[in-house]
Amino acid sequence: MARRDTSFICQSCGAVYARWQGKCEGCGGWNTISEEVAVAASVPAAQRSGRKGRAVVLEKLEGTAKPAPRLVSGIGELDRVAGGGFVPGSILLIGGDPGIGKSTLLVQASAALAQRGLRVVYVSGEEAVDQVRLRAQRLGLEKAEVGLAAETNAENIIATLSGGPPVHMVVIDSIQTMWSDSVESAPGTVTQVRTSAQLLVRYAKQTGACVILVGHVTKDGQIAGPRVVEHMVDAVFSFEGDGGHQFRILRAQKNRFGPTDEIGVFEMTGRGLSEVANPSELFLSNRDAGAPGTAVFAGMEGTRPVLVEIQALVAPSSLGTPRRAVVGWDPNRLSMVLAVLDARCGVRLGGHDVYLNVAGGLKIGEPAADLAVAAALVSSLTGAPLPADAVHFGEASLTGAVRPVSQAQARLKEAAKLGFASAIIPSGGLDGLDPPVSVRPVSSLAELVAGIAASAPRRPAGRETRDSAMREARGSHDRNPPQRAVEHAEWGDDEER
Ligand SMILES: [Zn+2]
Repeated sequence: MARRDTSFICQSCGAVYARWQGKCEGCGGWNTISEEVAVAASVPAAQRSGRKGRAVVLEKLEGTAKPAPRLVSGIGELDRVAGGGFVPGSILLIGGDPGIGKSTLLVQASAALAQRGLRVVYVSGEEAVDQVRLRAQRLGLEKAEVGLAAETNAENIIATLSGGPPVHMVVIDSIQTMWSDSVESAPGTVTQVRTSAQLLVRYAKQTGACVILVGHVTKDGQIAGPRVVEHMVDAVFSFEGDGGHQFRILRAQKNRFGPTDEIGVFEMTGRGLSEVANPSELFLSNRDAGAPGTAVFAGMEGTRPVLVEIQALVAPSSLGTPRRAVVGWDPNRLSMVLAVLDARCGVRLGGHDVYLNVAGGLKIGEPAADLAVAAALVSSLTGAPLPADAVHFGEASLTGAVRPVSQAQARLKEAAKLGFASAIIPSGGLDGLDPPVSVRPVSSLAELVAGIAASAPRRPAGRETRDSAMREARGSHDRNPPQRAVEHAEWGDDEER
């Protein structure tokens, strides 16, 4: 079988090509494909050496499984995301933007585990030993018995770990700096990352140590993406946040030993990351209660209810194609809600810029936020503030109906705990519900819009656009022809000029 000596591998997703090309078909990235010395991955090593496989003993499904004792760090937010502590013999990947605080989190976790008498090794491939020491000093953790090394060769690391007494936990910071003698590609390439990760996976499974890999995610795909190791590890966590906020969110995207979509919330302080036990309180602090365009969404993050403020700003646009800007929510979902408001409720936003923001830097993935988003949009458009003590949740369908969502009881309980008195919820989800707050069920978005518009204040003259859109929203339940609102809005714009 004739084999090429080199192949072309996308450094972002690992797709392999026979020739170089500018764009990767696999992930759509530009200029991410580079030439690498091919490993004979398609021919198993056993076949090349001519060795026959060894027969393994087959087991029955029935049997006693030993529940793995977990390595509990005592950092509650971290342990919960891991599914109640780290599992010995497992390997997990923590990804995130550079500088977001992954190393800080893992130095804290290492020290916490070491203080509980476990043997922890921290291998830094990016920083010198002194830099890691400085970080530990800044965090006040320099007394913790953590084994420290600055090394990038995977074989050397495994030899070091195998030499001494058994290690409970190993942190590799980061997997992108690791390289192995067994392949000839340059360090940092997909082949090297994958091979090093394979060696560490084998080490974890053989020795029962828990291995944590740190992976940087860059948008331009210059560094080999940790995506290529995602399928090899037992759990993938992402560490999210941005420079403008103090909050950091650790999210389980994949976890063989625990629930996914679980989040841990941390706050970056001068002395490292501190746990945020009640994220709702944090996300609702500094709330502009009673301002038009804000709605409180009672959401679920994994098994935990989290209340956040949704902020919307709707303003007449001077552009041919109005702007739609979203932070913290799915832009496609916003387009859908706008289209449903337009088609089913007569709320014409085609001539308006729309800005949507989830306060506090949280990213919401739930369709249950539809109702809160629609309420915030209509509230901003009409200038009618929503009740400050109310929460919203419910999914909108394309027909304009509001659908029930899961975990309604937990959402309402969290709302009551934080002092909210009422909730606007889907009318279909009332069965078996024991609401701790007063509920206002709605069956359609039109019903929601009519309710908000009825409380809208009258605007001074000169705000024709807003006024006509508001009139339209008010009359929506009368099934006004939507065309009229457009004419009003355009006419209004002309007069303003
Ligand atoms: Zn790709």
